[in-house]
This record gives sequence, C-alpha cells and structure tokens, in this order.
Amino acid sequence: MRRTITVIGGGLAGSEAAYQLAVRGIGVRLVEMRPSPHAPAHHTGLLGELVCSNSMKSDDPDSAAGMLKRELDASGSVVLACARATAVAAGGSLTVDREAFAEALTRVVTARPEIDLVREEATGVPSGEVVLATGPLTSDALEPSLRDLAGTGRLAFYDAAAPIVDASSIDRSECFAQSRYDKGGADYLNCPMDHSEYEAFIEALTGAARVTAKEFEAADLFHACQPAEEIARRGADALRFGAMKPVGLTDPRTGRRPWAVVQLRPENREHTAYNLVGFQTNLTFPEQVRVFRMIPGLKEADFLRHGVMHRNTFVDAPRLLTPDLALRSDPRIRIAGQLSGTEGYLEAAASGLLAALGAFASGRGAPAVVLPPETALGALLTYATDPETRPYQPMHVNIGLLPPLTPPVRGKRERYAAHGARSRAEMSGWLASRPELDVERVRTTLAREVPR
Ligand SMILES: Cc1cc2nc3c(=O)[nH]c(=O)nc-3n(C[C@H](O)[C@H](O)[C@H](O)COP(=O)(O)OP(=O)(O)OC[C@H]3O[C@@H](n4cnc5c(N)ncnc54)[C@H](O)[C@@H]3O)c2cc1C
Repeated sequence: MRRTITVIGGGLAGSEAAYQLAVRGIGVRLVEMRPSPHAPAHHTGLLGELVCSNSMKSDDPDSAAGMLKRELDASGSVVLACARATAVAAGGSLTVDREAFAEALTRVVTARPEIDLVREEATGVPSGEVVLATGPLTSDALEPSLRDLAGTGRLAFYDAAAPIVDASSIDRSECFAQSRYDKGGADYLNCPMDHSEYEAFIEALTGAARVTAKEFEAADLFHACQPAEEIARRGADALRFGAMKPVGLTDPRTGRRPWAVVQLRPENREHTAYNLVGFQTNLTFPEQVRVFRMIPGLKEADFLRHGVMHRNTFVDAPRLLTPDLALRSDPRIRIAGQLSGTEGYLEAAASGLLAALGAFASGRGAPAVVLPPETALGALLTYATDPETRPYQPMHVNIGLLPPLTPPVRGKRERYAAHGARSRAEMSGWLASRPELDVERVRTTLAREVPR
C-alpha cells in the first residue's frame, strides 16, 4: 500500500509540503477548508492565497530574503517557481500577480495524481502521519486538538513583538551596557534620554500613524499586552514608570541615573541583534523607523524586524519541535508554516518544504534533514527549534539570525555579500551531500510542470 500523509491547510506551507511529498511518490490527503467556511483574511478557494501584500520581498541575492530565494530555487520549491512564473515588474523585489500566482499553484498541485484535495474543515488531528499547516488564522474548530498536542501555555493566539535592530548599526558611544542593579552580566544595552529628549520622543510616539486592527483582531487586542504608544497616551510619565524606567541604571558618562532609558536586549547568543524591550507596537513600519531612530544610539539603526501586534496562532516551537519540525512528543506529526512561527510567505513555503523532506527522509530511515545554520532557512529553523530561544516570537529570515562571519567583515554591503556567498556555498554543499533526497530530479520535474 502506498504511504500516505495528511497535510492539513492548503496555504503556502501546506501546498509546498503536499507537492514535495507527492513528487517523491508519497500519497497526500490535502485538507483545506476554504472556500467554506469563511476564513477571516482569505477570499477565494485557491491554494496558497496571499492574504495581504503581493510582494515576496527582495530578490537581491545578498539580502536575507534573497538568500532564502536562492535556497528555495536550489531545493525545487513549487511556491517559488509559481511566484517567479507569475512575477510582475517591481524593482528589486519579487512581486506577483496574486490571482495568477494562486491559480498556477492550485493547478500544479492539484494536477499531481498522488494528491487528493479534500475540501473540509479539520476538527482534529487524524491518526497516521500528518503535516499541520493551518497558519496564523487556524480555525477555531482545530484549536482544542492543537492545545492538547502543544500542552499548557505552548500555543499562542496573538503576536505582540517589539522591533529588532541589527547590533552593528547601534552607535555604542550613545548607549551603555549594564543590567538593572548590575544583576547578572551586562547584557543589556541602555539608551539614556534626558528630560527634553524624552518629551520629544513621547510626543512623536503618541502622534505617529498606526495600523488599524482588522475586525477579527479587535477582541484579541484587548487580551494582548498593550502597544507602547497606547501606554504613552495614558500620561507623560507612563512609559518612564514602565518600559522606560531608569531605576538601577547609571550612565557612566554622567555618573547619574538617566531621566528615562530604552533597554535593548540581545536576541541571540552571538549578540548580533537586539530588541527594544517593551516596545511592542502598532505603528506603521515607516513610522517605527522614524520614531525609534530618535532613541539615542539608534539614529542609523537597521530594523531586522518591525514591531507587530496581530492575531497569530503559533506553537512554542523551541520547546515542542525537532530541527526538522517533528513534534518531539509525537514525531508522526510535523508542524510547518506560520503555525511553527516561521513568519512570511516564503518562510512558510520553506518550512513546508523542509517538513516534507523531513518526513520523506524519516520514512526511508535516512538521517534527519537539518540545514546548515549559515543558510537563511537553516538559521531561521535553528532559531525556531533551539530550546535556548526564549521567549519565542515568530520571525522572518534576517541577517541577524546568521552566525557571525569569521573573520568579521567590515562595511554593511561587504558583510551582506559575504553572508550571501557563504549561504550559497553551504546550501550547495549540503544538497550534494544528500542525494537520497532526490532534489535534482524534483527540480527537473518542476521546470517541466511550471515553465517560466
Ligand atoms: C492578516 C495577515 C497578513 C499577513 N500579511 C503578510 C504579508 O503581507 N507578507 C508576508 O510575507 N506575510 C504576511 N503574513 C504572514 C504569513 O506569511 C502568512 O500568513 C502566510 O500565508 C502563512 O502561510 P501558512 O501556509 O502558514 O498559512 P496560510 O497561508 O494562512 O494557510 C493556512 C491554510 O489553512 C487553512 N485552514 C485553517 N484552519 C483549517 C482547518 N481547521 N481545516 C482545514 N484548513 C484549515 C486556511 O484556510 C489556509 O488556507 C500575514 C499574516 C496575517 C495573519
């Protein structure tokens, strides 16, 4: 009897996973609830519908998003192939005609004879092998089963994340390293403000343009922690007694406690990225850059990730998943896409691809599918499945996740180019070392099924 795997969710991750399994001869039961019941952000019954922007970000091979695209090209990703086949001109980014894209993906996936597309809402996790890819807006009917799988406190319904900046873009002469009351190591960077700087910052923060919450998010927002601009609006000193409190800190340049402080906390062991503690926000992305660059030390900051506050169902992947996205407690189940916390269209597709390769390899008794951390996807999955990652917030690929270069490379352009070259070399070396994954044949099939 043919091995069959159930993939739940026909979004970007689920469609990619289904195709990758099918093209390797595995039967797939692809369960997608659309077009009915109504999904809050989707409008069609097409597989891989893009819920918002039609951009898949930069195609520059020396950007993190561009590196991911090279890795997906090399791995034979059907989502990326359909995106390239339906691209519209948009400068350096890969931008698609959204309808043509979803139609192409639906056509290619449903043409595979191994795939049985079932239009129904999954209300539980079936027996047998499963890839769960129901995305950030997983339907309510599946939530009790997800809770059971994940365990208490390991399933989130809301993403409230502060912005993250590239460590190398922080001006260290404007800030100082110290932990409050000198407890533990001096891991935090503190950006001190005097009275007038603080007032100007609060005025800009409270006056900046915000994203309007979608209807289905309004109730969730109430339960989530509050955005920094909302707290600031409660009173001039509200943040100074909250996230910006200066107690336990001494500015070595003045020998005194500052009026207010923005603390930056390292995002990773290598300290290549820092988040702005307590600054979860609903400001629009351009406004975040404008306002947060007023913080001393962040005048030239590169934002690796903007702050967000939106509805988002995801599991605590570092505690629950293996590096190839299997549940530690029940390896017949894999979790892919935004449900695993890989944020972004192509990140979702990439984790779907990896989950499928993982299932394929484990069925053949081959070693686990673990990408080198120097690749964009390998770095993202290392972040997502390393038990050291806490607290866990969904993340898109970014340079700050990659291990530092040795020796270090000076200059941003040169550094990004070196990361790009290293990721391509690592990826092709890794693919060459895993011939049993059959990637070359898949790429040839894909080129025939999705002509550019
Ligand atoms: C409102 C919103 C806007 C976003 N905008 C962007 C953006 O502009 N750019 C970007 O890169 N990323 C964006 N993201 C983040 C993320 O990249 C996308 O959500 C992406 O589509 C995630 O892919 P996925 O495959 O994990 O989930 P999805 O693409 O959402 O696919 C999940 C699928 O599962 C189905 N499903 C859900 N529950 C069930 C069930 N019980 N039974 C059967 N099927 C079910 C859904 O109908 C859906 O088709 C956005 C997220 C949200 C919530």
